[in-house]
Amino acid sequence: MDAETLRRYLEFYQDLGVKTLYRKHAPAPPPALIPVAAPAAAPISAPVPMELPPLAPSDDTLFKIIEDIGDCKRCRLHEGRNKIVFGVGNEKSPLVFVGEGPGADEDEQGIPFVGRAGQLLTQMIEGTARKEGMDLTRKDVYICNVVKCRPPGNRTPEPDEMETCGQFLYRQLSAIRPKAICALGGTAARALTGHKEGVTKMRGKWFKWRDIPVMVTYHPSYLLRPGNDPAKREAWEDLKKVLHFVYD
Ligand code: URA
Repeated sequence: MDAETLRRYLEFYQDLGVKTLYRKHAPAPPPALIPVAAPAAAPISAPVPMELPPLAPSDDTLFKIIEDIGDCKRCRLHEGRNKIVFGVGNEKSPLVFVGEGPGADEDEQGIPFVGRAGQLLTQMIEGTARKEGMDLTRKDVYICNVVKCRPPGNRTPEPDEMETCGQFLYRQLSAIRPKAICALGGTAARALTGHKEGVTKMRGKWFKWRDIPVMVTYHPSYLLRPGNDPAKREAWEDLKKVLHFVYD
């Protein structure tokens, strides 16, 4: 790959917010290129050809992204997964919800937000829409996660897992080009906005992913925990804001 092509690849990923790219293989530098005359200095490694995924075409589609994900083994999360959980809903939706990563039910079915947290999310979307006089059901929006494979024991995804899988989330969002995104919980909020504050500080406010407005709110799993009813009310308020922004 020539320097100009490499520069274009790197700019593309930088625009998408990707800060680190991982080489599939990093072969050891050929022995002949290791300087033998200067043992005190760090060995100079030979330039290693970078194997980057193809530049996303301007006519990228969710189908192409699924094809590129394939039987993904790019990070350790593939080791324990049953199914890759790509996303569900209306591919042309003006509103995309982004969660953290699949749980046990999602891993089993290959569909995001189908467990208890998912049922609450569905109720929240449909209940809020109904109350606000909007004709909207879950299938009208698009729902996906930052990482597409279930983290073991539902732990928070590690930064390298988020970056590796994040390239596919960013391609999904670029292909759908929604009017707004709703980040559910801290992991999605961090992946999309780069801000590190807690959700309590960020919720209810607008941020941006590239040029698309992002509303941060609580993750439905958090709302299911006993004692978090006040947060439920806040989440409903956040959702109301998003729905009016997108559908009025
Ligand atoms: N939690 C998430 O973040 N995503 C899901 O799909 C389910 C639970």
